[in-house]
Amino acid sequence: SATMDTGKLLYITLGDKGALIVQGSHSTLVPTHPITEIDPTGAGDTFCGAVLANILQNKHPVMAAHEAVVISAKMISQIGPKALYSKKPISQPQIDARIRLNNTQIKKISEKLSSLPEVSPFPFVSKVLPPINHPKALDYFFAATVHQFSFWSIHNQKYYQPLIAPLGGVMLKGSDYLWKCFSLALERDVEFCSPNRQASLNLDELKTIMQDDNGNQPMPAIELHLEESHRYGRDMLALNLDPESIIKQSKFSSNPLSAFINILDQIGGYKEDPLRKKSGLLALILNQRPENFLPFQKTDHIDPVIDYHNMRLCLRAGLIDILDEKLNKKLIDRIILSKDEEWAIRYAAYCARQQIVNLSGKPEGAIDWFFFNTRKTCPEMTPPLCESCLIDSVCDHKKEMFQPVIRTTYY
Ligand code: SF4
Repeated sequence: SATMDTGKLLYITLGDKGALIVQGSHSTLVPTHPITEIDPTGAGDTFCGAVLANILQNKHPVMAAHEAVVISAKMISQIGPKALYSKKPISQPQIDARIRLNNTQIKKISEKLSSLPEVSPFPFVSKVLPPINHPKALDYFFAATVHQFSFWSIHNQKYYQPLIAPLGGVMLKGSDYLWKCFSLALERDVEFCSPNRQASLNLDELKTIMQDDNGNQPMPAIELHLEESHRYGRDMLALNLDPESIIKQSKFSSNPLSAFINILDQIGGYKEDPLRKKSGLLALILNQRPENFLPFQKTDHIDPVIDYHNMRLCLRAGLIDILDEKLNKKLIDRIILSKDEEWAIRYAAYCARQQIVNLSGKPEGAIDWFFFNTRKTCPEMTPPLCESCLIDSVCDHKKEMFQPVIRTTYY
């Protein structure tokens, strides 16, 4: 592995093993696809050019490499640079052969969502969040969004159950529990969410703020939460940034959303996920809160926010089909997946969701809220309540399907 200074990027090409992308102290291996090599001349130059072009189009550094690997592979499968003369855009990374986008379902569900006025953006105002105009709301949302992951436990290498525990006198589930932990911590210590405090948190402090009303510790992977706090706080300090300065810099840019996302691509807790789930979620929150911390432009579009509720819904509603029987059975049985199986499903869900935004004409904020909120009618542990679900008439009703089970800090 290799490390760089915070905020710096390094790409190392590894021939038929792919490329290593180093973002500060974090690195990701992007594998190549099997291909018959005819002429390797210019493979590295092609990779560099494609990466730079992708980064200039605001792609995440790892997604820039995923796409560059595809075009480099195409280039070396022909003699000379012939493959690069194509006027078509650079290929997206391919959907894994074990999975298929179901275009009929994508179209049907997009049309349905487009006709539903209740599918609209959520203002992120609720009892678990700081009140409107809280003086430290920005610190809060930047620090707490980093922790939006892993609200479920494992038993015998299988998904066991979601986090549900009492806090502030109310039973809260998953992300609501986490938002409330940070809200209560902010009430006790107004600087708790500052990058400085997050950079130096210790495990005992974190355990205290995350314990429930009965003094129990329900967070299934608390050590990962400590690491995420440190990654976030330390990168912010190294780059001399704080939430207000990031918003200020973004607003001064000709494209505030892209500028904002590009800064988060350098900050621990956000930068690691090639599909930018937490970055996208934070951008939506800051845009949709009544304070409108981060105004978008009309032409701005945001990447789909792909968490496990999104993936479960994509699988159950038939937006993506699993063609591989072994993988299908692992999903139904809720067995822990390998990294490449998880990536295959998540990337396919991402592509399906991108198409739904395009076809429905609804903004990502509305589609994201619909997918997240449908966790109530299509939950993890009890049978789906299809008769109360907004997409019952167009759903494929694959009720036995389950999201990928894997411990990740990305979602
Ligand atoms: S609740 Fe029923 S109709 Fe709705 S997404 Fe789940 S399986 Fe489909």
